[in-house]
Amino acid sequence: MRTPIVAGNWKLNKTISEAVELVTALRDLVANVTDVEIVVAPTFTALPAVARALQGSNIRLSAQNIFWEDSGAFTGEISPVMLKDVGCDYVIIGHSERRQYFGETNESVNRKVKAALTHGLKPIICVGERLEDREAGKTESVVENHVINGIDGLSAEQLLSTVIAYEPVWAIGTGLTATPNEAQEVHAFIRSLLLRNYSADVTEQVRIQYGGSVKPDNAVELLTQADIDGALVGGASLEAESFAQIVKAGSG
Ligand code: PEP
Repeated sequence: MRTPIVAGNWKLNKTISEAVELVTALRDLVANVTDVEIVVAPTFTALPAVARALQGSNIRLSAQNIFWEDSGAFTGEISPVMLKDVGCDYVIIGHSERRQYFGETNESVNRKVKAALTHGLKPIICVGERLEDREAGKTESVVENHVINGIDGLSAEQLLSTVIAYEPVWAIGTGLTATPNEAQEVHAFIRSLLLRNYSADVTEQVRIQYGGSVKPDNAVELLTQADIDGALVGGASLEAESFAQIVKAGSG
């Protein structure tokens, strides 16, 4: 039995006071949810204040990026040690916006994933095809490339602490969503990829989230698919009420 995980990726949004206001409202709205893991990923600057506002709640904290070194001459970067220090449990790695705008590669994703795990942070690894990939029939090969390289070298135990987020790039922030069947197909494919190097028992326990214009009105049909174990939510996580509704869609 996999516990669904619903995570809000706030991207480059919210000042510190806005971030605290959002999680303060969210805390109350989801206080009774016990069967979904709830995660928010504010900007780096809001992490300390949000961590304080979440104390004693059922909401966990994530960062949106990480660097693989612990410390040193790496201007502008944030290390796993620092993310643990501020109270993060999770970190999003390899989001398509980072791959597209900031030169993130499979190799850097893998280094970040390993560094996160070494320091007790759980990575949420984003994978997914662009529209031109899908139209060229390359969805599976692109997703395979992202998944296999992203998790390269992980032990079974490390894989169990890892979440994979399938996010078709054409569905992110566009209002377009993969149909529940389309998403389920890719999720099942990802699970079959894991079986190549891990036991059926381990593979069955790994959580695979869907992301791409998840909203309150499409969340139930997506989250009830057999291999969809929650959602990574962008736009709809910026408002407490809509994010809470998506969280509740993942609740049995
Ligand atoms: C995302 O940024 O991971 C995302 C899925 O965004 P949106 O929900 O806005 O499509």
